[in-house]
Order: sequence, then C-alpha cells, then structure tokens
Amino acid sequence: MDTNEFDFENRIMSTSYSAADSDTEISLRPKTLEDYIGQEKVKENLKVYIEAAKKRGDPLDHVLLYGPPGLGKTTLSNIIAAEMGVNIRVTSGPAIEKQGDLAAILTNLNEGDVLFIDEIHRLSRSVEEILYPAMEDYALDIIIGNGPSARSIRIDLPRFTLIGATTRAGQMTTPLRDRFGVILKLELYSPEELATIVRRNAGILEMEITDDGAIEIASRSRGTPRIANRLLKRVRDFAQIMGDGRIDERIANYALTKLEIDQLGLDNVDRRMLETIIKFYNGGPVGLETLAATVGEEAVTLEDMYEPYLMQIGFLSRTPRGRCVTHLAYDHLGLPRVQIPSQSEQMKLFGAEEN
Ligand code: ADP
Repeated sequence: MDTNEFDFENRIMSTSYSAADSDTEISLRPKTLEDYIGQEKVKENLKVYIEAAKKRGDPLDHVLLYGPPGLGKTTLSNIIAAEMGVNIRVTSGPAIEKQGDLAAILTNLNEGDVLFIDEIHRLSRSVEEILYPAMEDYALDIIIGNGPSARSIRIDLPRFTLIGATTRAGQMTTPLRDRFGVILKLELYSPEELATIVRRNAGILEMEITDDGAIEIASRSRGTPRIANRLLKRVRDFAQIMGDGRIDERIANYALTKLEIDQLGLDNVDRRMLETIIKFYNGGPVGLETLAATVGEEAVTLEDMYEPYLMQIGFLSRTPRGRCVTHLAYDHLGLPRVQIPSQSEQMKLFGAEEN
C-alpha cells in the first residue's frame, strides 16, 4: 500500500502544535483559571492547592499534568504561575541534553518560580538523576573531578515548583513520577465546553459567530481546543469569501465538509486508518506496531494522536491481542459489518468438539 496516502505532516486535525498555530496560540491562551474552560475537577483541586500554598508562603508542590496533546497543559502551567504570582521558565525534555543544561536552568531560578518541562518523559536518565534531589531537597549534587579524587558537593537551589507535562505518564520512570505531589489528568473536552471556547475566541479575534456555528465547529474538533481554534480560523476564511464574514451553522458545515472533516471530526487519515484495519486485518485485532508499519507512522504517534479520540467515540477498542474496529465504525464508514463467528462456529472451525 502507498503510505503517502497518509499525509500526517499537513493534517489539519493533528493535535500537535504547528507553526501555523503560532499567531493565535498566544493571543487565545486564557490567562486566569476563571477563563480556563472545562477540566472542572482539575481546576477545583488546583484552586485549593494554590490557595493553601499561598497562605503558607510556600511554593506550590510539584505538579504533573498528563493527557493527549492540545488539551491545555502548557496553558494551565502559565495560569498556575500567574495565580501564584511567580515567573515561569519553559523548556522541554528533549531540549535538555546534558546534566549541565538542567543545572544551569535550576541555578537561574528565583524563589518560588515555576519550571515547566514539556514532554518530561523524554528526559534522559542522567538528567533525571539531577532532578531527584532538586525536587526533593531543592539541592544540586555536583561531582567534581574524577577517579579516586572525585568528590560531590551540594549546592542549594531556590525553592521552586516543577510542572511536568506528558502525553504518556506510563512511560515515565517510577522514581520521577513519585516525586510529584500533585498528579492531574486532563480529559478530552465535551462539545459544549469546546463551543464556549470557540465563542470566546471568536470574540477575541473579532469574528461574529452564532451559537449553532460554534456548536458545529466544536462537535467536529475531536475534544481538543487546539483543533477547535484551528478550525475556527479555517471556517472564518470561508465566511469572509462566501458571505459577510459571519459564521453560522451553514457556513461552518460547508467549510468543514470542503475540508473533508466529517460530522464526528474524522478526517481522511482516520477513515483510511480504520479502513486499513478492516481491509487488511478483517477489523482486527491488529498489533499497534503492525498497524503503525502498515500506515507508515510511528506507533507512539498513533497512540497519542489518533487513538484517544477514536476510542472515546467507541470506534476503536484496545484488546490484549491488539486494536479492533467496532461495529459503530463500520456503520459510520458505511461498510457492511463483518460477521464475527459465534463461539460454536469457532469451535467447529478449529475442529474442537462442543461440550
Ligand atoms: P498542550 O500543552 O496540552 O499541548 P496548550 O496548552 O498548548 O496544549 O493548548 C493549545 C491551545 O488550546 C491554546 O492556545 C489555548 O488557546 C487552547 N486551550 C487549551 N485549553 C483551553 C481551555 N481550557 N480553555 C480555553 N482554551 C484552551
């Protein structure tokens, strides 16, 4: 099969950040917990922890945020720093290559500051080791010299808050995960929550939008604010060319259909992936690695970017033997459901006697 069919790079529905998002991503970022829509449980907990830390005059405990890309982990970290009234220093796991890189960042923090490490599961083991005493004792253990004359000296660090973000908490080492006092999981957003985000952002971008128009965009955004923002901008283009610039249900529907995004927010890549499982693997089960090789994408990308939504809408199920496409997906794709042999038929097929 020609894997070029799967244009992963230029996908509008990708949850990962792309350069085209940069102009609006910053202006649309909510600045306070009040403006941060949805994730009610996470916000409630955070409010308590922030209040308590402020009352005690302590920095906030280290926080781990996990969940699929585009759900607001970076945004929330900025809000936490703002609510605590401290500065934030932003970096990412792959950007910190050596122990010295992290040591330089840590020694430059001020008392109470937030250090945000995106993709924290990608820190190397040796860098992670520096982080343990830093998180636990606000200290840096440095080895000077080598061989028998090597000695370790300890440098005190300012008390800081580490906020780690990851799409895959399961890939983090246990010692690192255990050092976070607060672990919060971000969930996909409901269409109503996304519609609120779309209306708010249309306001900031000075676009006129009806409630129906907002719902139309929201329900096709795969539970992800980053996608909702991107679709809003695309629909605006259609509204300006085809009408008076106002976004209503008709224009939104027209634009999204033109972009080949269906009623449930599936694009060509999703549909082809589901069809591949159906065509080549009879609907599954198919192992993640095999599927990844067939569609020409990395397994982790499939797991982070495609599966959460396809599973949330019940199109894909994860079984011990691999991924399976469900009947709901067959119906949505307009394909006849496969006949799954009954238990007695299976027995006969394998030549076993029924008892
Ligand atoms: P992540 O770090 O999880 O990949 P981001 O924090 O970069 O996601 O969020 C992507 C975009 O989605 C941001 O620009 C922001 O405008 C929007 N966004 C995320 N969460 C919310 C929210 N709860 N309310 C409003 N907008 C949000």
